[in-house]
Amino acid sequence: MSRASRIRVKTQKPTETGGDELDMKMQEYQGKELLARYGVPVPKGQVADTPEQVAEAAAALGGTAVVKAQVLAGGRGKAGGVKVTKSPEAAQEFAASILGTELYFAQAGGNLRIDRVLVEEALPIAKEYYIGITTDRASQRNVFIVSSQGGMDIEEVAHSHPDAIGRLAVDPFLGVRDFDIRRVAQQGGIPASELKELTLFLKKLYQAYVENDANLAEINPLVVTQDGTFIAGDAKIVIDDSSLFRHPDLAVFAETSDETDAMEKEAHRRGINNYVHLDGNIGIIGNGAGLVMGTMDEVKRAGGEPADFLDIGGGAKAELVKNSLELVLSDPKVKGVVFNIFGGITRGDEVARGILAGTESIKIDVPIVVRLAGTNAKEGLALLKNSDLIPAETMQEAAQKIVSLVGND
Ligand code: GDP
Ligand code: MN
Repeated sequence: MSRASRIRVKTQKPTETGGDELDMKMQEYQGKELLARYGVPVPKGQVADTPEQVAEAAAALGGTAVVKAQVLAGGRGKAGGVKVTKSPEAAQEFAASILGTELYFAQAGGNLRIDRVLVEEALPIAKEYYIGITTDRASQRNVFIVSSQGGMDIEEVAHSHPDAIGRLAVDPFLGVRDFDIRRVAQQGGIPASELKELTLFLKKLYQAYVENDANLAEINPLVVTQDGTFIAGDAKIVIDDSSLFRHPDLAVFAETSDETDAMEKEAHRRGINNYVHLDGNIGIIGNGAGLVMGTMDEVKRAGGEPADFLDIGGGAKAELVKNSLELVLSDPKVKGVVFNIFGGITRGDEVARGILAGTESIKIDVPIVVRLAGTNAKEGLALLKNSDLIPAETMQEAAQKIVSLVGND
């Protein structure tokens, strides 16, 4: 998907079931680490990035282990990225054969490089179930999906065994009730004798899901061991990126997730969540997604190329302006910046002070055009008179000014 269409996904048309491309997908080992904090049973294991570490980890597990490629795509089993090994040497050998190489993942539609593997205790699998929680935007609820036909893609199950899938929309006020779980378990083909285990597992998973603002928590397979214990054989957790400011503890996971764009990584690090890096040379900052997109359109119409999409949200506090501007200017391609701020509840003069305070403490050697509209816009623009900032009265004027100053080289 192109970056431009990602913006559309983010601001206009979220996907039907939870999430979009900006959301933070966690690697399996990270997801399991998070789930373990909530008491969800996960296998003992260790992540490793060299064959030697893999051998050590396998030895620590007593010899037999599962070695699993850590990539943000499912179908690793089919891709040749998962192997049960009988000795530390065999684990090391398998790891050496995949680490640093690329495997083809049908789900990702291409090759992915294996930089890390998870070495886990091999589970004595009796049965494989499927359990998922996701956000269903249509019903605006979190939905449980339960099936006794785990291990394979849930889409495949939906196709081949449509009757073997239980679905339950959780009432946000009533929460998860035991009889709801009983019903969804029955629909999904889970035997009544396992209801107690399932209920415990689901409640913990749900707690982890809600408390971390996830929009997907998928356990496939949920392994039922030979002695009847439930344990997460796999974990796919996706966190709503707009909530990351509430979860500083998840930031360590974001570093190693699949966010390949250095600018977007830096944005997340700074706590700026509504930023998308683009290819042009004109930085765009505004308040409100629609306004920012309108500004991008106008810049394009004037013959310029946007370098980013950055929505700073309501108000324009000096600290936020400074932080945003520093981020945008750290892109070496950026040759000019346009601010488009609509003062609603926030008055234009306050906004202008925010921008002035935000800009005075950093070194700026590119033109910055500021368009202010709404409440007290005149007073705001007057405040900018004695600065290097270039005022504009309309969005069109702002776009034309910045494009003429930057050119479109
Ligand atoms: P995915 O294919 O990317 O979803 O990766 P999974 O973690 O789901 O692993 C794929 C398959 O490997 C599972 O469905 C299992 O059949 C197998 N597998 C994973 N862990 C173990 C294990 O501990 N023991 C055994 N015997 N098989 C495992
Ligand atoms: Mn899986």
